[in-house]
Order: sequence, then C-alpha cells, then structure tokens
Amino acid sequence: MSRPTILTVDDDPQVSAAITRDLASQYGAEYRIVRASSGPEALDVLRALNLRGEPIALIAADQRMPQMTGIEMLKQARVYADGAKQLLLTAYADTDVAINAINDIGLDYYLLKPWDPPEEQLYPIIDDLLDDWRKAHPDHTSDVRVIGHRWSDRSHEIKMFLARNHVPYRWYDVERDAEGERLRTLAKAAPEDLPLVLVPDCETLQSPSTLSLAAALGLHTNAHQPLYDLCIVGGGPAGLAAAVYGASEGLSTVIVEREAPGGQAGMSSAIENYLGFPKGLSGSDLAHRAIAQVSRFGAEMVLARDVVGFETRGPARAVLFDGSGEIESRALVVATGVSYRRLEVTGLAELTGRGVYYGTTVGEANQCEGDVVYVIGAANSAGQAALNLSQFAKQVVLVVRAGTLTQTMSSYLIARITSAPNVVVRYHSTVVAVHGAGHLEALTLADTETGTTEQVGSSWLFIFIGASPRTDWLGPDVVRDENGFLATGQDLLQVDSTRWSLTRPPFTLETSVPGVFAAGDVRLNSMKRVASAVGEGAMSVYLVHRYLATI
Ligand SMILES: Cc1cc2nc3c(=O)[nH]c(=O)nc-3n(C[C@H](O)[C@H](O)[C@H](O)COP(=O)(O)OP(=O)(O)OC[C@H]3O[C@@H](n4cnc5c(N)ncnc54)[C@H](O)[C@@H]3O)c2cc1C
Repeated sequence: MSRPTILTVDDDPQVSAAITRDLASQYGAEYRIVRASSGPEALDVLRALNLRGEPIALIAADQRMPQMTGIEMLKQARVYADGAKQLLLTAYADTDVAINAINDIGLDYYLLKPWDPPEEQLYPIIDDLLDDWRKAHPDHTSDVRVIGHRWSDRSHEIKMFLARNHVPYRWYDVERDAEGERLRTLAKAAPEDLPLVLVPDCETLQSPSTLSLAAALGLHTNAHQPLYDLCIVGGGPAGLAAAVYGASEGLSTVIVEREAPGGQAGMSSAIENYLGFPKGLSGSDLAHRAIAQVSRFGAEMVLARDVVGFETRGPARAVLFDGSGEIESRALVVATGVSYRRLEVTGLAELTGRGVYYGTTVGEANQCEGDVVYVIGAANSAGQAALNLSQFAKQVVLVVRAGTLTQTMSSYLIARITSAPNVVVRYHSTVVAVHGAGHLEALTLADTETGTTEQVGSSWLFIFIGASPRTDWLGPDVVRDENGFLATGQDLLQVDSTRWSLTRPPFTLETSVPGVFAAGDVRLNSMKRVASAVGEGAMSVYLVHRYLATI
C-alpha cells in the first residue's frame, strides 16, 4: 500500500513552503507530503488520489484563500477524503469562524499562525491527529482474524474484547464469507469449535477464554511484583487517572482490569463535555490516550483479570483474581464503576449477544448498516448510542418509558435526536418480549398508557437502562449502601459510624477499611461523569499519600 498523503493547501507561497517544510521534516518518512496552492487545485489532487484508492490522512488548509476559503474546501473534501483529519490554519481574527467549523463541518483542529516552534505548537497536534487516523485505518497486514457466526454470543464477546483493547482484527462470518469457511476448513475446526481466533505466530485458538486470548495477544495478565504501594482495581477513567497520578508521583502502582481499559467511557461514541476537547472525543480515544500515559509513567497494567476477593492482611491489602493469582499492596483504590442493569423480559437471556446487547461499540454500529435498530433507554448513554447507530442504520427507534426526555437527557442530545431524520422516539413504550430462533428477529412493544402491544421485526436491540455497582467481592468489612455503592468519608460516618475503627476521621474517599479508597461511579453519591471520575482518581492518590504517612 502507498504511503498515506498529507495535503497542505495555501495560496501564500511563504506559508505554504513553511507548513510543507515543517511537515516533511517530521513526517516525510511515513507520509507523502503534497502541496496545493488553492482550494480547487486541492480538490483536484484529492479526486485523483481517491480514484487511485490512495489513503489521505490529513488536510491542512489555510482559511483565507481567494477562490475558496479553507472551510469551503474542507467541506467539499469530505467527498474524496472521508475520514481524513482536517486542520485549519487561521489568523487570530478568524478564531470564531474556526470554532463554528468544529460544529458545522466537523473540523478536527484549528491552528493559529505562525506555529513556531513547531516542536511545541505543531507536532504535538499533528501527532494526535495522525494517531487517531491510524487507529481508524489500521494496517491490516498483521491482523488478528476472527472466524465465527454472526449471531454467536462468544463471537460477539471476542470482537468486543479485541475492539475495546484496540487490537485491529478482521471478522469473517462463516455463513457469509467464503474466506471464513476456507480458514475454518484449513484449521480443521468443527462448527462447535467456533469462534476461531488466528493470531500471527500463534496456534489457532478455538473459542478461547478471554484470559487465553489476552495471553496469546501478548497482553500482560499477571503482576510482576508480590507487593505494590498502590493497587487499583478497575481501568475506567477513575482507575486510569489514579494510575497516572500514582505512578507519576513515585508510587509503585499496578492497575487490574477485567475487560478493557476505558470502562463505560470506552463505550461512548462521543464524550462532548470533557474539558479541553471542544470537538468532543470518543471514549475509545480517551482510553487509548490514558493507557499511553499510564505506561509512560511506568504503572503496571494487568488485563483480563477479574478481581473476586479482598483480604486485609495486617498492613497489606490483598485482592484475589478469579482462578488463581493475587496482588498485595499498601493501599487500594477501588474504581470498579458500574455495570449495566439487566432487563428482565421474556426471551431476552437467550438472545443476549445474539442481536440483543447491553451497550454498543462502534464495531457493532457499522454492522447494523441498512437495518432498523431499537434502543431502550432515556439517558445520555442511550441518546449517544442512538445517534451513533443512526449513521449506519436505516432507522433507529428509541424506546422511552416516559412521555419526555427532558428529565433524563442533556438538551444538546435531545436537539440532535429530534433533528436526526432517521431517529424516531417512541414515548410511553417498553419492550415486553423478544423473539427469535438463534438470534433476535422481533420484539413486542407495549404502550404504557393504553396497554396495547405490537410486534415489530428487528435484528438489533441495544439496552441502556441504568447501571449498578458490583461490589460483593469486597466482603463484609467494606461498608456499602443498600445498592452496593461504597460509602466513603462523611458518607461513611452517616451510613454507619460504628464501622470506622480509627481515632482520625476517614479521608474523603476512604472506605470503612483504612487504606482502601473508592473513586468514580462505584462511590456512593458520586457524580457519574467522566470528569468527576478522573478527578476522584487523581484525588485518591493524594489521599493515599496521606494514608501511607500514617502507617
Ligand atoms: C454509553 C455511555 C456514554 C457516556 N457518555 C458520557 C459523556 O458523554 N460524558 C460523561 O461525562 N460521562 C459519560 N458517561 C458516564 C461515564 O462514562 C462514567 O461516569 C465513567 O466512565 C465512570 O468511570 P469509572 O472509572 O468510575 O467507572 P467505569 O467507567 O465503569 O470503569 C470501571 C472499570 O472497572 C472494571 N471492573 C469492574 N469490576 C472489576 C473487577 N471486579 N475486577 C477487575 N476490573 C473490574 C470494569 O471492567 C471497568 O472497565 C457515559 C457512560 C456510558 C455507558
């Protein structure tokens, strides 16, 4: 495959030469840097590249050009270079125009001229944009391949695991892809051995457990040391933030995650309210950046391990893994968030993973191409999912029990949903049964006002009906409220003051067991947002330092 192209567009010869030179010196080895001196010329270049099937990674265009503005050009460029990152070069006076372009044309970034020194003002931005582009356009030559049935729940789980751990893979449906059937025959696998996972330089894996898949992929599934200063359970925003702060402040730090770093946020298609990302960012992008930061500071990450037990051993706090293995630490941060609440409906358990899903990933969204999709839920997570799915589905029906969304969903999402031509909101409705032989084929909807029911055909149902913490593994010493949320600080004293054993009061995020802290959604009375989870993760490390100073 040819090198991806970076196109610069500027009518000013000096600016054009400067941006082209700076980009060529930094990215010339991996990317072809092409230069155009006007909008129409740039569109001709893009048209030709597109015809030849050559990838276009980034377009950097000046806003002020005589024949066509940068924004006009970038808007038209989508036809030939959909997915290419778009950067606008602007003067300070055009800042408002550039900010509007983030909403209007999906501009990725604007850069004020001049950008000296490029090491500080240009390269970090371009690195980020190219990193995102590469993630969306992985080099498929060394791919992992998954062969299975479209409606198999294990295939679905494996695909989710790979996608959420940022492992590029190719999917073959044995019933639809001749190549899938060929690979199955080559591997001498019986239908009941599916799904198969082919990992380069590894034996064929037949319906592997998450742990064995993680090991085959070279993911780190065991801790290196017997004792750490800080162990964090849960790799969502709170846990990742705690790991970054812990490791960067000199604590030997390990973080344990059972599914994929990123947590619930990793499932979000667009987090638009996280400070510093005016265009919003996907949960997967946030997770990817956080993982890089965690590794850069030297925290250890143990993946695909489910923590199922907790013990206090004198000054040490121990967490026990499902199967075998454990970690001891001097302090523990529990950042296990919440998990989707299950819907109790006739037929649902059998079809979960076979057309019925809790949450979505981008990978699932594009599989719904051309289909009618149902989403249950009235909160932001359901709204985001409906909009994400609407990019691929013929129609998305949002099933809402109440008569309005205003109490439960942010107004910016309601506005987008009501203006999306292929999203329909079905108020006063619930799903009362699902039907299908082997995979979802139809659902029964009930009108909560009239009691009437209707059966509709669909192969896709995504459920977002709230979430609850799973904290049973912490045992009786760690105080929780009746829903399982961990009581910390003042809340702990209010829930049950008799359970705090020391003369000093508990630190703000400290649970009833000294040295065990809770951060993020798992904590009683937490705010249930990415920013607050990150803030609590960071704050927990400050409190860990204070705790360690007391022992
Ligand atoms: C679809 C969706 C969209 C959202 N959009 C937004 C948004 O736009 N803006 C916003 O501010 N918030 C949003 N949220 C909410 C936000 O994602 C959460 O508030 C945030 O992720 C909470 O972070 P956390 O680290 O506390 O927990 P979580 O994100 O829930 O992470 C907890 C992690 O712990 C792991 N874990 C749990 N138990 C164990 C165990 N026993 N052993 C090992 N690992 C374990 C889980 O696998 C998970 O990865 C959204 C949520 C969803 C579901």
